[in-house]
Amino acid sequence: MSEQYDVVVIGAGPAGYHAAIRAAQLGMKVACIDAALGKDGKPALGGTCLRVGCIPSKALLDSSRQFHNLQHLFGEHGISAKDPKIDVKTMVGRKDKIVKQFTGGIAQLFKANKITAYYGFGTLHAGKKVVVKQHDGMDVELVGKHVVIAAGSDSIELPFAKFDGKHVVDNVGALDFEAVPKRLGVIGAGVIGLELGSVWKRLGAEVTILEAMPDFLAAADAEAAKVALKEFKKQGLDIKLGAKVSKAEVKKNEVHLTYNDGKSDQSLVVDKLLVAVGRKAATKGLLADDSGVKLNERGQVEVDEHCKTSVDGVWAVGDCVRGPMLAHKGFEEGIAVAELIAGLPGHVNLDTVPWVIYTEPEIAWVGKTEKQLKDEGVPFKTGSFPFAAVGRAVAMGEPAGFVKVIAHEETDRILGMHLVGVNVSELVHEGVLAMEFHGSAEDLARICHAHPTLSEAIHDAAMAVDKRAIHKAN
Ligand code: FAD
Ligand code: NAD
Repeated sequence: MSEQYDVVVIGAGPAGYHAAIRAAQLGMKVACIDAALGKDGKPALGGTCLRVGCIPSKALLDSSRQFHNLQHLFGEHGISAKDPKIDVKTMVGRKDKIVKQFTGGIAQLFKANKITAYYGFGTLHAGKKVVVKQHDGMDVELVGKHVVIAAGSDSIELPFAKFDGKHVVDNVGALDFEAVPKRLGVIGAGVIGLELGSVWKRLGAEVTILEAMPDFLAAADAEAAKVALKEFKKQGLDIKLGAKVSKAEVKKNEVHLTYNDGKSDQSLVVDKLLVAVGRKAATKGLLADDSGVKLNERGQVEVDEHCKTSVDGVWAVGDCVRGPMLAHKGFEEGIAVAELIAGLPGHVNLDTVPWVIYTEPEIAWVGKTEKQLKDEGVPFKTGSFPFAAVGRAVAMGEPAGFVKVIAHEETDRILGMHLVGVNVSELVHEGVLAMEFHGSAEDLARICHAHPTLSEAIHDAAMAVDKRAIHKAN
């Protein structure tokens, strides 16, 4: 006997729980399946984001930032503390408490929205049937009028550096070190490498990041990447570009790495190794041979612009499909699919999905980089403004970074905004909003911004597009 639902969602991460809750709000009978267990061995909803991604990493970034500021920045405010110490157990415990609060929160939301949660692994078969291998050993069959695949992603493992959970880890291990490693090696200077590398560096680890590509943060604006790299180097993060790792051997509690720096083989010995070389769609065991759902050449579930798969009534959202692997992109896709199922309009504009890297300074952007526009042959003009000339940023002791607005040469329409600096994770949304409303640099320049705020950097950068910034020479 199978249980019948209007919508069966596989995966209760950001994409899946948004789809489930919105579908339930729209009056549908919804089931949501998730296989994940929390640190306590009990089912935990919320996906990578809440368990081992966005939220725990930001908790540790915040703890380590407080410690670092106390040690290095509070002095100039006249604040001193004798011999500050970090208790890693307490810090990780605080992170775990936050994770539990939020994963439990999803369970509460499911209850409040009358969504049935199934705890186990789901496999999609023909006829929109999902067989769930539940943790209690009982298999259950669910049939949905619609099925939403929101299976998320897993870390990519390197063949010569297999995760052992102790010496060679991915994000899961690096969020749970029991003590500050003396020497931390990181493979990959991407988002995870920079964020988690920063956490342990601020707490006292010697951090070496080995990046295969010759360019730093190639997806970001080149000027933003350059400014950020300079700041990271000042902080003591040792970032080696063009470093190709070929070996990682665990010997006597150490990891011995061999990499080529473009000239010759080099060696590096560390106590822990974080491998952060990207993530891949989590499709293992997800699709039975008769499911009819196609994968693309990258192993992601193939979807059209409305998140429809190759099977009518089967949708896919979030990290397991094309587009940026970001929680908020998954949120929007989950909502859009639920609304489309209900016969409402549902749409996600992948061109205005903001990116944020939560380092110090933060890096954020929306829209195109100068390089992308040059490659596409789009004529553009730019205006930049440094935080060093923004009263609020200097008063906060945070003068690093800048804002750059890129606008179309002829129409003045905003094509991109790139920010490096304090709290730019919040500021970038002014760019998102302007782009969604098809705004121009002049629109931003004519909008009154409160003084003194960090957002004045956006105002002056927009004015600088027309060479009329007030607080700098144009
Ligand atoms: P997931 O969150 O991966 O959720 C999928 C869920 O489905 C999982 O719980 C999984 O167990 C379950 N599942 C999979 N297959 C099955 C199956 N067959 N049966 C049952 N259950 C199944 N993004 C941001 O936007 N901002 C950040 O600051 C940020 N920080 C990050 C930090 C780290 C360390 C990492 C690793 C990621 C971070 N991300 C961040 C990315 C973000 O976590 C992902 O983009 C987001 O979680 C994707 O959501 P999702 O719902 O598609 O998948
Ligand atoms: P990433 O794609 O951001 O970075 C991976 C880096 O590893 C790249 O710079 C790549 O060139 C490098 N690399 C790949 N293979 C390598 C090798 N063999 N040797 C050395 N370097 C190598 O991936 P990630 O940091 O693992 O993060 C995965 C995804 O998770 C991100 O792309 C992002 O979508 C998401 N995430 C987002 C946030 C955020 O929004 N703040 C935070 C963490 C993770």
